[in-house]
Amino acid sequence: MQVLKTIKELQEVRKNITGTVGFVPTMGALHNGHISLIKQARNENDVVIVSIFVNPTQFLPGEDLDAYPRKDEADKKICQMCKVDYVFMPEISTMYGNEEILIKAPNKSYILEGKTRPGHFDGVLRVVLKLFNLTQATNAYFGKKDAQQLSLIMQMVKDLFLPINIIPCEIIREDDGLALSSRNIYLDATQRKDALLISKSLYMAGSLIASGERNIKAVENKLYSIMQTLDVEYVAIVDREFNELKIIEPKNTIILVVARFGNTRLLDNIWL
Ligand code: AMP
Repeated sequence: MQVLKTIKELQEVRKNITGTVGFVPTMGALHNGHISLIKQARNENDVVIVSIFVNPTQFLPGEDLDAYPRKDEADKKICQMCKVDYVFMPEISTMYGNEEILIKAPNKSYILEGKTRPGHFDGVLRVVLKLFNLTQATNAYFGKKDAQQLSLIMQMVKDLFLPINIIPCEIIREDDGLALSSRNIYLDATQRKDALLISKSLYMAGSLIASGERNIKAVENKLYSIMQTLDVEYVAIVDREFNELKIIEPKNTIILVVARFGNTRLLDNIWL
């Protein structure tokens, strides 16, 4: 496994790759969620590139950019164990200069996550486009955990004719249901226990729908009733392209929940 730091190193390496390239972009502090993406990339491609870059342009002022967990050495070991070929770990100054061409995410990037974090997805798409151009990957792997991000990246690929396949990957959870996240380490013991109500509410909503419920309000009420002790920021029921739904459409519904635990926001969702 080779660790690449500069654009030149990555471009040089890329020039000499002939087979398919699987790319997994991450912000590091790797956990089993990331590992499942990397394993899938390993199974499906000749060469695997993982990027580890805490991207400043997707953090708003006052967010946890400085506190975001950084575990470079442990991350490199994990990548090595997963038989990654190249880890790209650039500095901020390597990824950003004085560029004037920026990416503007569409209007639907200003709902849900984008309402609380306006501009967040501009930063996400900006860095992802740069990384796609550098890696020229065949396949790029993204978790369904960040469903709105995934949908916007698919939109960007479609609108800009980017020659890359986006592969959505299943959400990986702890045994008790909590969706894995690099930010889970911010939770204290009580918050960690309370957080289980999020996945529980999503599962219960899932079974309600499986038993025939199609009414959005009824499903939302179920979610809120299970999470009544939590500080729920939003519950949303949307289709795969993040349009609001009038009724539940099986195979085209995503239920999203964000709840706050102190300064920590936990996201989770279920695809039905
Ligand atoms: P991040 O390092 O948080 O930017 O995440 C990098 C990638 O890992 C993104 O595509 C995330 O959606 C994905 N990811 C994060 N947590 C999980 C999880 N629990 N299950 C599956 N994928 C995940």
